[in-house]
Amino acid sequence: MRLVLRDINRLEPEDEPPVSLKENPGYSKMQVLCCAICRTDAKMWEQGHRDLVFPRVPGHEMVVRDQGNNRYVVWPGDNCEECEFCLQKRANLCDRIKICGFNFDGGFADQVVVPDKSLIPVPGSLDSHVACFAEPVGCVVNALENVFTEPNGRILIYGGGTMGLLAALYAKYHGWEPCIVESDSEKICNLQHFLEHTGISCGNSVQGKKFSAAILACPDLNAFGQAIQKVDKGGQISFFSGITKGEYIDTHLLNLVHYKELQLTGAYGTRKESMEMALDFMSQNSRELWMLVEDVVSPWDAPRLIPGILSGKYLKYILDFTIQPEA
Ligand SMILES: [Zn+2]
Ligand SMILES: [Zn+2]
Repeated sequence: MRLVLRDINRLEPEDEPPVSLKENPGYSKMQVLCCAICRTDAKMWEQGHRDLVFPRVPGHEMVVRDQGNNRYVVWPGDNCEECEFCLQKRANLCDRIKICGFNFDGGFADQVVVPDKSLIPVPGSLDSHVACFAEPVGCVVNALENVFTEPNGRILIYGGGTMGLLAALYAKYHGWEPCIVESDSEKICNLQHFLEHTGISCGNSVQGKKFSAAILACPDLNAFGQAIQKVDKGGQISFFSGITKGEYIDTHLLNLVHYKELQLTGAYGTRKESMEMALDFMSQNSRELWMLVEDVVSPWDAPRLIPGILSGKYLKYILDFTIQPEA
């Protein structure tokens, strides 16, 4: 079966086998074990995208299996390997990149054709559902790789959604103290179990402490301004989530980047190397990652879940393609 995005607001399950999944040289057909639903998928459902052509099978956070029963996560890019960015191992910036679930059909299907070069083996001990986090954790690794070069700093994390929580876990893993700022009190309440278990703090605001870094994991312009104000001189800000379009920022705030010699670094998607690094971290934090799974569901449930995912109120939903639909 597969889930096809036919138009805006139209994600339709199809039971018939895909007509022809072509395996060109360098590409292989894989069985999809599971694929997580990302908020980006829900946004595509709501708004489409400039470069998206319908129909399309979404999904870029998947775990696949080959005929020899080997499991892989998939770096969701198909890059040219020739441009200056590919040669610098920054394939996420490739001039001619194609993205899985977006420019070509993705993992919301029981079968997928992916570039062989994008496959990353899953460690035997790691549960497939947890392994679905490899792509979002890879994005976090890509965003924070250059921040955790020294031990024992304190990092502000704006946004208590899945990405913010993953960033907090990753910070802890590196011996840093994460402080999450989340404006939605109900969301904080729902996270109590995770926060108590991990010892990560999360509140509506932070006072007093010194921070040597911040990461923006929400689209709120206010958070951007606060990060510039709160981070200490010489500190780093990872500009991870894009900000809502069409808003304006006071130049006084931007001048603080200058006065405080802040390093403001953009981060977009993930490199394959960052996903490989993510798997090490994930193997050691699988219990905590499990706590970020909202539910494991049958792919047939996906269409009804999308509007809720768009609201940002839920953690990760995982579509499990090994679950058979009820007769
Ligand atoms: Zn994603
Ligand atoms: Zn390239």
